Amino acid sequence: MPTKTSERWIADGENMVKQFQLLGYRTDMQYADDDIQRQVDQIDEMVDAKVSALVIGAIDGTALKSVLAKAASADIPVIAYDRLIRDSGDIDYYATFDNYKVGVEQGGAIVDALKLRTAKGPFNIELFAGSPDDNNATFFFNGAMSVLKPYISAGKLVVRSGETKFERVGILRWDNAVGQKRMAGLLKSEYGSARVDAVLAPNDGIARGILAALEEAGYGTKGRPLPVVTGQDAELDSVKLIAAGKQTQTVYKDTRELAKVAVQMTDAVLSDEKPMINDTKQYHNGVEVVPTFLLQPVNVDKSNYERVLIDGGYYSAEQIAA
Ligand code: BGC
Repeated sequence: MPTKTSERWIADGENMVKQFQLLGYRTDMQYADDDIQRQVDQIDEMVDAKVSALVIGAIDGTALKSVLAKAASADIPVIAYDRLIRDSGDIDYYATFDNYKVGVEQGGAIVDALKLRTAKGPFNIELFAGSPDDNNATFFFNGAMSVLKPYISAGKLVVRSGETKFERVGILRWDNAVGQKRMAGLLKSEYGSARVDAVLAPNDGIARGILAALEEAGYGTKGRPLPVVTGQDAELDSVKLIAAGKQTQTVYKDTRELAKVAVQMTDAVLSDEKPMINDTKQYHNGVEVVPTFLLQPVNVDKSNYERVLIDGGYYSAEQIAA
């Protein structure tokens, strides 16, 4: 797994270990703390230890080519977990969520919350994206922009900073503090007496950084409501902010299901069976199309978080209230 800084990867890791053990496998779970070389070394050591299979949540999607060539020459199958591994012909399968749809949900939440279909506007929006070296980040951003672009072109949404290109708005390593800093800077340089009405935040961690910058600048007080802020991952801290009416939305991706899919894929490969896939088009990694199983993300906001997350057993009501 890439890091422990997003709560989701911890759950991903625990769920996978549990699932593998249920099927009788032994596991070696390692976190690379967002350090690319450490991840390469970890994989290298696992190959030397002759593991039967590798399941990898990559940090930098382009950095694993040579260590995976070594895995391939040792006949070790590789499953890309959540993030596509790029530039390598040695990836057997990919298990993830429909990443483009995640962005479509975020963009749609902004359209709904500002009532853009009927309201006259214009509204001010600022855009953020995830880490440029994470293949998912482009998919999230393109999905969101497919919804928001027509409103930007029509002048209903205005990006005062002018920063609309992925390369300009991506936050390296999904660093929440960097997101917070960029938001604070934008508020200072672009929004003297004007107000920002919406912020496209790519995930919950960055959304919390953005909300902190907004509150610091006086948003969320009487007469100065917080803008619409999106998110992703349904992290507990953000679900609390949604319940409190601060964060508008998140995209829930049930990591229990993703773990199950990845474990079943691995088990199938090791049993000489064909794993279940449902996409053979979207994920070309620069060398080949990687056969993929896509799970469906779910839009979660104040109106449905109890039904989806509590009734669905992801969190207890007590956890969210604490
Ligand atoms: C994952 C997101 C996560 C982000 C930062 C992405 O690749 O799909 O769920 O928020 O990485 O960890």
